[in-house]
Amino acid sequence: MGRMQTALRLIYPDQCLACEALVEGGQGLCGACWRETPFVLGLACDTCGAPLPGVPGEVAQCDDCLARPRPWRRGRTTLVYDGRARRLALALKHGDRADIVAPAAAWMRRAGRDLLHPGQILLPVPLHWTRLLRRRYNQAALLAQEIARLTGQPYAPRALIRRRRTPPQKGADAEARFANLADAIAPHPVHGAVLDGADVLLIDDVMTSGATLAASALAAASAGAARVDTLTLARAVRAP
Ligand SMILES: [Zn+2]
Ligand SMILES: [Zn+2]
Repeated sequence: MGRMQTALRLIYPDQCLACEALVEGGQGLCGACWRETPFVLGLACDTCGAPLPGVPGEVAQCDDCLARPRPWRRGRTTLVYDGRARRLALALKHGDRADIVAPAAAWMRRAGRDLLHPGQILLPVPLHWTRLLRRRYNQAALLAQEIARLTGQPYAPRALIRRRRTPPQKGADAEARFANLADAIAPHPVHGAVLDGADVLLIDDVMTSGATLAASALAAASAGAARVDTLTLARAVRAP
């Protein structure tokens, strides 16, 4: 942030990320929006972070992760992809809302605090270069970069690549999503070398079926990653 922006921030409070209200600098959401945004606070799936009924502290898995074993060890998320959280994630992805990155990364750091540790490589899920050209940024990479800045951990935005474009996943069922993504993500022939023997935390904005995270985790493992965990901003869960 430039000196001018810092000076302005001292004078003017920030606007809430989700409404017109003004909030104290850096908090992201006003009190009303905070209460209406579905943060995952209680017991959650140890593998993907989806909220579960029960007492925090036990180790549990959601039905999705039980039905489909994941090629990573543990996973955390910050928000249920619904309501205000869904609007925030969509605004970050398509709306040029870079102002969401810093508060979202701070929330993710908190949700992932028991997974994050020094030396672990923060690895954003890659975007195909044609999508990157159109959108101009990869929201997963922005989140990973900001978490790296907060924690001082290494960040490897070029270690994985999308080998081919995959059709938009919206509307596809889980089987189709997994089929679409198979072999679509691979280690970069040069930059992928940092993953050999590494402890990796995959970062993405939204986990839906888990197909993209699975393809990325398998690519990291094929590059020699010793351990892969995941951290997402939001997790889409089926209505109960
Ligand atoms: Zn608000
Ligand atoms: Zn799960």
